[in-house]
Amino acid sequence: MSRFWSPLVHDLVPYVPGEQPKLVNLVKLNTNEHPWGPSPRVIEAIQAEVSANLRLYPDPNADALKNKLADYHGVTAEQVFVGNGSDEVLAHIFYGLFQHGKPVLFPDITYSFYPVYSGLYGIEARLIPLDEQFAVRPEDYSGDCGGIIFPNPNAPTGRLMPLADIETIAANNPDVPVVVDEAYVDFGGESAIQLVDRYPNLLVTQTLSKSRSLAGLRVGFAIGHADLIEALERVKNSFNSYPLDRLAIVGAVAAYEDETYFREATDYVIRERERVTAALQTLGFEVLPSVANFVLARHPGIAGADIAAGLRERSIIVRHFNKPRIENHLRITIGSTEQNDALLGALPEIVGYW
Ligand code: PMP
Repeated sequence: MSRFWSPLVHDLVPYVPGEQPKLVNLVKLNTNEHPWGPSPRVIEAIQAEVSANLRLYPDPNADALKNKLADYHGVTAEQVFVGNGSDEVLAHIFYGLFQHGKPVLFPDITYSFYPVYSGLYGIEARLIPLDEQFAVRPEDYSGDCGGIIFPNPNAPTGRLMPLADIETIAANNPDVPVVVDEAYVDFGGESAIQLVDRYPNLLVTQTLSKSRSLAGLRVGFAIGHADLIEALERVKNSFNSYPLDRLAIVGAVAAYEDETYFREATDYVIRERERVTAALQTLGFEVLPSVANFVLARHPGIAGADIAAGLRERSIIVRHFNKPRIENHLRITIGSTEQNDALLGALPEIVGYW
């Protein structure tokens, strides 16, 4: 703390991102990255751009990417907003779309950046409890509020909400933006993008960090009614006149030109998720049904923190949250076959055979 700080900064509680350890040879199953690299086409496109064009400023509208995403998702380019990872897209949503002075609603167990953005922009956060099975109850999302946001599938539970429930929330709250954060939707979910033309208040965000193996490139986007997108453009352009750098634009475009790789990469994670889930259950874990590239699991006999510590001693890192209701759970990213085998090989020593 310093007397030079603005009062706005005093009370800020920043987000603590998942650990990115510097040590090599760790089995890193803590931040939901894809175990494969991106499509070779992405690498080629980025290398070509490095050789030819780094001298030049990027396109301030990132039109090539907006057009690509619009074609891919069956919307117009005016319905697409792009940013540096969906975290940035979400920040602009909190600032530019949620009505300040009213609470924003989101689940009590959800992506921990939402309360951080609420704090940053001075918006009251109203946390809505999940039911006993960790599911979102759509009827709980109504009343006087400034906006609604939830991931689908939810994080860190991995639970999927049916599109009909999303429609219920959008229809019950026509006067505020309803935001569906689909960071993990490609691992078996169904996108709400198909609903945006029916609900002018519905906005869907996605990221290239998970299913497209591009967490390091920092590209995310939002799709919704052009009026919502315009607000986000205004906010973003007030911070930075270039939405994405040249490498991010060409790399992201190329990622959407290799559908075969995308399908193989997501199918692989889904197959491994089912295998890991079954093996964890055999070891006595309770595993929530996940539609994401991670599972949330707890062992009835052993504290989550102890299992995480035991794994760490064996150079395996998973995510443990110190939050009510999930303090004994672990969020385990689905890694490569070898990484998952390492996890499953280490656990019996830690939890014993049940
Ligand atoms: N939403 C959710 C639910 C997430 O878990 C994450 C990843 N931490 C993000 C958004 C942000 O992803 P990125 O900024 O890499 O696009």
